[in-house]
Amino acid sequence: MSPQPVIEIRGLHKAYGSLEVLKGVDMRARKGEVISLIGSSGSGKSTLLRCANLLEDSQQGEILFSGEAVKWKGEASHRRPADARQVLRIRTNLSMVFQQFNLWAHMTILQNVMEAPVTVLRRDRAEVEAAARVYLDKVGIGDKAEAYPAQLSGGQQQRAAIARALAMEPEALLFDEPTSALDPELEQEVVKVIKALAEEGRTMILVTHDMRMARDVSDHILFLHQGLVEEEGAPAEMFGAPRSERLRSFLSHSG
Ligand code: ADP
Ligand code: MG
Repeated sequence: MSPQPVIEIRGLHKAYGSLEVLKGVDMRARKGEVISLIGSSGSGKSTLLRCANLLEDSQQGEILFSGEAVKWKGEASHRRPADARQVLRIRTNLSMVFQQFNLWAHMTILQNVMEAPVTVLRRDRAEVEAAARVYLDKVGIGDKAEAYPAQLSGGQQQRAAIARALAMEPEALLFDEPTSALDPELEQEVVKVIKALAEEGRTMILVTHDMRMARDVSDHILFLHQGLVEEEGAPAEMFGAPRSERLRSFLSHSG
């Protein structure tokens, strides 16, 4: 029996006006899989991730969650999700972590982690707080619960953002360049947390420029080039025996 992928994208086309950014992309993440998206700046990685999270409309193609297809309405050039409840249900099952952390500056770290489970999921505040403290411990900043984001290093803020994502208990985590804004010495503490999440079998889609992390944590890697998947495969194949000249050239320029 092969289970439904948690997230599946088929033949996705996405344009901003006349600029075609995704030109028919397929991607799937099964339960427990870590999929990494690599490729040059502008190749469409963030757009694909934002489409997967239904933050972007698209023109063509299917997006499915555990086999359930997103319903669309309107003409292809203006299509948008037809069912707001479906979108909400899907989006609360996906948590995104951004390059710039996006923590709320006026809230403590604990409040940041508790906010969405309490207000969106309407879960019991005391239970949410207990769980939030466990997630903060898990990412190694349990002692920062009462601090404000500005009092934390970049690496600590990003780990807080990961705890906040985990607190939603999502089916899948989406990361967009989670280590790109960090100084090299702080990057590793975030990489460590992401590795630990991969090892405990979380379903994740990871956009990264960090080839070592991609190699270490991924089950499958997609190399995007100008809005198309130019090459994909297991890390050992992609890094050990890249087939396309473009991937070879990309890897030789990405340290
Ligand atoms: P990557 O994450 O791989 O660097 P992006 O998905 O951010 O690439 O961008 C792909 C292309 O889409 C780029 O040419 C970028 O300039 C363009 N793009 C991204 N977002 C927008 C937007 N909101 N409006 C117009 N063009 C955009
Ligand atoms: Mg990007």
